[in-house]
Amino acid sequence: MDGGLLSALADLVLPRTCAGCGVPGRVLCARCAALLSAPRPASPRRVPWGFPPTAAAGAYSGPVRPAVNAFKEQGRTELARPLGAALALAVAAVVTAVGPVPGPVLLVPVPSSAAALRSRGRDHVGELTRCAVDELRAAGLDAAAARLLHRSGRVRDSAGLSAAARRANLAGTFRRSPLPAGPGLLVVVDDVVTSGATLTEAATELSAGCRRGDAPVLAAVVAATPRRPTTTAPQGDLRVVPKRSENVRWYSSGRLSGGEAKD
Ligand SMILES: [Zn+2]
Repeated sequence: MDGGLLSALADLVLPRTCAGCGVPGRVLCARCAALLSAPRPASPRRVPWGFPPTAAAGAYSGPVRPAVNAFKEQGRTELARPLGAALALAVAAVVTAVGPVPGPVLLVPVPSSAAALRSRGRDHVGELTRCAVDELRAAGLDAAAARLLHRSGRVRDSAGLSAAARRANLAGTFRRSPLPAGPGLLVVVDDVVTSGATLTEAATELSAGCRRGDAPVLAAVVAATPRRPTTTAPQGDLRVVPKRSENVRWYSSGRLSGGEAKD
């Protein structure tokens, strides 16, 4: 039985509620999904040296937090599609922000630690990556998943560590497969960025394998911890149109200015 049929059957017997706000209906209601449709540059409070240009589909606050946690920690795998679509939007935004795309866009998932894989029983960032690639390809972008990063060494759980301690904890914990030859863009993808230490470490490892003149390693996440929870995160020069699917198509078509965009 395929996943679509299972999911359709589950819809019949299980009442679906929004993982963000709890209203009955879809796994992520339109209001909560809209919180993940405004890509913005993600900048940690203290930007680590080497932090890659990063876009987030929304702020990790309000209903977005329980939605991401339900997917990550509570096994609500059906959220992979809406959260993966949000990730696709962030990828499209950061790719377009750096200029013309020189070749295929390769999404490099941040690998989970062995301990996290064991406790969750699944690779949630890998699931997000697959859905994001589907969304980007449907929008006409030449995109693929590339598992170029692997965990090496032992990393302690980073919960409760300061940004500097997280960085030290992560140093040297990724190793990389040989990078594909030819032009292209590497985009490290993850669910949430907080201190930026993980993305920095991942981008540093990938950049070490790049040749001089290669495009910079970029990053995209579903949500970024806001600098100040009470204010709206700056959107910088990432342009946004109201519907997410239109956004992805709009970014993918490479239009950097257009009448339907709003700043
Ligand atoms: Zn909701």
